[in-house]
Amino acid sequence: MFGRRFELFTLFGFKVRIDTSWIFLAILVTWTIGTGLFPAWYPDLSPVTHWIMGAAGAIGLFASIVLHELAHSIIARQHGVMMRGITLFIFGGVAEMTDEPPSPKAEFQVAIAGPVASLLVALTCLTLGAAGTIVRWPDAIGGVVKYLAVINGILVVFNLVPAFPLDGGRVLRSILWNWKNNLSWATYVTSRIGVGFSFLLIGLGVLNAVTGNLVGGIWYFLIGMFLRGAANMSYQQLLVRRSLEGETVRRFMHVNPITVTPDIPISTLVEEYVYKYHFKMFPVVDGERLIGCVRTREIKDLSRETWMQKTVRDLTIECSDENSIHPDTDAIAALSKMNQSGTSRLMVVENGRLVGVITLKDLLRFLSLRVELEQP
Ligand SMILES: [Zn+2]
Repeated sequence: MFGRRFELFTLFGFKVRIDTSWIFLAILVTWTIGTGLFPAWYPDLSPVTHWIMGAAGAIGLFASIVLHELAHSIIARQHGVMMRGITLFIFGGVAEMTDEPPSPKAEFQVAIAGPVASLLVALTCLTLGAAGTIVRWPDAIGGVVKYLAVINGILVVFNLVPAFPLDGGRVLRSILWNWKNNLSWATYVTSRIGVGFSFLLIGLGVLNAVTGNLVGGIWYFLIGMFLRGAANMSYQQLLVRRSLEGETVRRFMHVNPITVTPDIPISTLVEEYVYKYHFKMFPVVDGERLIGCVRTREIKDLSRETWMQKTVRDLTIECSDENSIHPDTDAIAALSKMNQSGTSRLMVVENGRLVGVITLKDLLRFLSLRVELEQP
């Protein structure tokens, strides 16, 4: 979903990053409010002031989105959901969760936290604005605060539309999930509403564009397209999760995997194993004992001249939580482990002994067959 991202700072233990596309949003917001909204609200102020107010508004919008996502993240962490951090991008922000919330109650609380935070920010800005009018602070400050009250109000209303994966869609999903005790069905219903809502936005975008509001129209159109993709993707991710649920690693692992001994030179490893079997990882076994694994990733960093002198033992990485898994673990856990560590093969280890190897390819093949045979 993201292009290049930059890490900005860490807030309450969450890394806050911006995607380069956010810069486009910042410029667009500054321009729109600096040349449109603020001149209309305060025609007496100078264009330079309008531009400064526009930039302040964009920074305020940034802070508002971070607060919104921070609220989601804090509540998610309280429910034990692992978080990757907060990313701001062209369509706002996301609190990236590595997993779904564990229960309908958790989902409800995580989802509602964002809009509640935005509502509090909106109310704070309204109060500040009212107080500012009484003490007669400069219009430039009052204008930015008023804009932030409005934009946070819009954030609340837009996010509460019951269209998955918007917050409102998650709230509705948690209610449906609780009602029928069926997460797949709840996701199916709310993601269909999500797709419906996205078409409404796309339609609105076209209508706006043809009636003269080109920038606004394109904006609606793009947000609609984005939501449509996100709604479909969320449902597919759930299908994957559901298809693998209850299946253990043991079911997919290859017993009697190809292993290597620690004393062969790297050149032999490359010629007789890597180029023959095309695997990126081989377990290293000495007799009955599993020592670890050797990967192409490490061979790559070695200069070719040393391939004859160095042996597999020199490159062997010890077994760890990153490269091995127990045969009775859920297959979905194997998939997320591969996803997180960027590997496609894991050693299956039981009581310190190698019992097999599980590969991404096999998991994906199973998934595509199951989806083909069992989806209506
Ligand atoms: Zn939200």
